[in-house]
Amino acid sequence: MDTELKVYVARMSRDGDELSGTLDDSIYDLHDEYLKPFGGLRYELGAQMFGSELLVRGRLEQDFEAACSRCGQDFDFTVKVPDFTASFPVDEKTEFVELTQELRESILLTLPTYPVCREDCPGIEKTEKEAPDIRWAALDNLKKG
Ligand SMILES: [Zn+2]
Repeated sequence: MDTELKVYVARMSRDGDELSGTLDDSIYDLHDEYLKPFGGLRYELGAQMFGSELLVRGRLEQDFEAACSRCGQDFDFTVKVPDFTASFPVDEKTEFVELTQELRESILLTLPTYPVCREDCPGIEKTEKEAPDIRWAALDNLKKG
């Protein structure tokens, strides 16, 4: 998998270029045992010159494995950036524009601060209290009778 994404400005077609592919997870350089990217950063981008600027727009996706911040269980989730936009100043000396850091930052900024396995995850404390309540058991028996 690639570890960088560069747009070679001089080689771009007049109508712009489509860029799609996957960047290696190592671009994140995360050393967090509770949050691990996997499968690579998937990108589908369009790049086009506007005057002295390179405009890049498109979609990004990255899968993560994380420990739920409420119950502590491992779960997988996908961070999606449906409207990635970035612009870069370009002049006649510019050979290429490096997009890797922009893509990486965009994914990291979209990451939830406290990832949870599901919206209504009750967390550890409540799950521990989930011992059967004898009052309800009594009601159940009534219904069955
Ligand atoms: Zn949870």
